[in-house]
Amino acid sequence: MRDGPDIVIIGSGIGGGTMAAALAASGRRIVILERGERLADCPEARDDRAIFERGHFRPDESWFTPEGEAFNPGNYYYVGGNSKLYGAVLLRYRAEDFRPIRHLGGTTPGWPISYDDLEPWYQAAEELYGVHGDAGQDPTEPRHSARYPFQPVPDEPGIAAVRARLKAAGVTPSSLPLGIDLDGWLKRAATPWDAFPDTTGAKSDAESVGIASALRHPNVTLETGALVTRLEAEADGRIAAVLYRQGGSEKRLAPKLVILSAGAVNSAVLLLRSGVANRSDQVGRNFMNHNCSAVLAVSPFRRNTAVYQKTLTINDFYLTGGAGGTPLGNIQLLGKVSGPILAAAGGVPRPAANWLAGHAVDFYAMSEDLPDPLSRVTIQGDRIVFDWRRSNWEAHEALVAKVKAVLRRAGFPLVLSKPFDRRTPSHQCGTAKMGTDPETSVLDIFCRAHDHPNLFVVDASFLPTSAAVNPALTIAAQALRTGDHITRRDLAA
Ligand SMILES: Cc1cc2nc3c(=O)[nH]c(=O)nc-3n(C[C@H](O)[C@H](O)[C@H](O)COP(=O)(O)OP(=O)(O)OC[C@H]3O[C@@H](n4cnc5c(N)ncnc54)[C@H](O)[C@@H]3O)c2cc1C
Repeated sequence: MRDGPDIVIIGSGIGGGTMAAALAASGRRIVILERGERLADCPEARDDRAIFERGHFRPDESWFTPEGEAFNPGNYYYVGGNSKLYGAVLLRYRAEDFRPIRHLGGTTPGWPISYDDLEPWYQAAEELYGVHGDAGQDPTEPRHSARYPFQPVPDEPGIAAVRARLKAAGVTPSSLPLGIDLDGWLKRAATPWDAFPDTTGAKSDAESVGIASALRHPNVTLETGALVTRLEAEADGRIAAVLYRQGGSEKRLAPKLVILSAGAVNSAVLLLRSGVANRSDQVGRNFMNHNCSAVLAVSPFRRNTAVYQKTLTINDFYLTGGAGGTPLGNIQLLGKVSGPILAAAGGVPRPAANWLAGHAVDFYAMSEDLPDPLSRVTIQGDRIVFDWRRSNWEAHEALVAKVKAVLRRAGFPLVLSKPFDRRTPSHQCGTAKMGTDPETSVLDIFCRAHDHPNLFVVDASFLPTSAAVNPALTIAAQALRTGDHITRRDLAA
């Protein structure tokens, strides 16, 4: 008789948390190993200076450029992972994103599954994460088999006026699909939620949704402060053991099935350190992160009194708009940027930052980053080496130019922009891509490692393309699809 768990899930982010929720009802003994702790409520949780100036929630960790320069990444280690701080935008990829698309910077490879394969799981993920939205507003919205569970989060009055001005300027704003209980969020403090950690359960993150739902089952346990250091494979390819460090002790579990969900960078690092799943030499490669800029639309004559702001998106340039009809990307509102946030991010002196923030409506322009085997995460001893090679930058520049022109037409005489750099790997993905050919991909179409029958990698690393929408809902949808596959075939028996 074995007395170990049937399934070990490594990481409790959107990938791991949703997998736990999907597998919990199977009755299999599941242990979730999470290196972080639960993020407890504290004054800093709603303090813009603590978050953005002092980096209170950032990890005590450096990643390195290939030239050896250290930087502190905004990659968060808590129960719930990066979703604790995420903007709760839960957008589907567009149907076109699953097929090869010609971009200014090259052609995407397309997915090994279609939008129709994932659609029922998008629907299930929207129900699990309680998404507020309206699929009828955005012309690029793909087919939905049912409505969003909740009505869209309302625009604040000033943002409703901006929506009207954007329409008059010739674009089609639509409501952002969001996983947020607005009243619950604002009850704790009147702040935005984008990049603010949730300590209330009002944000639909992986802790308050996926992990909470899984832990209602007595067969699921969560171990925090449990840093997985290695996977051990047997000669026949099966993963025999998961090694981890907890409370100063070295520990080991020997489950039947391993689900690796440590995030795109850390899953690749663990696979590389363990020397597993890499027959294709693709582990760590094809790192993508979106090309993103903050775009501030400033009107000296109008104050922006919005608290949360983040309720609309524009996809007029998502599928076309570039030279030769190429796609440019998505535009959405950011959480309201304050003076301290602007001063911390832009090096703007505080009085100027306060004035600018008070008169700006803050947008986020996001363009697709294309897979490139040379864009990669590697290890050098204990170091994580991060060689992100941006692609398709010309599309992003064209998108920023388009949005600036629209915002000027919408009555903002001053429009400023600033790109995000490698210290913000928020939309990291692609380091263990799925595909049908074991020679050129790491995972099959259900995220099972081609080289190891009892290893699944379910987090942002499986994404074959980054599209130009926020990744969390697509990770959650594929996790539910994979969970169903494992349960139906009883792969943890
Ligand atoms: C500020 C911010 C805003 C964002 N806004 C949005 C948004 O609005 N919409 C959206 O779709 N996406 C957004 N994102 C991105 C989104 O949060 C991520 O795409 C998503 O959470 C990734 O989930 P994941 O499961 O791949 O990885 P993670 O969230 O990184 O989860 C991995 C988990 O594994 C744990 N872990 C790592 N290594 C180990 C180890 N060795 N042993 C044990 N545990 C380990 C980590 O602590 C973490 O809990 C945002 C991200 C940030 C940072």
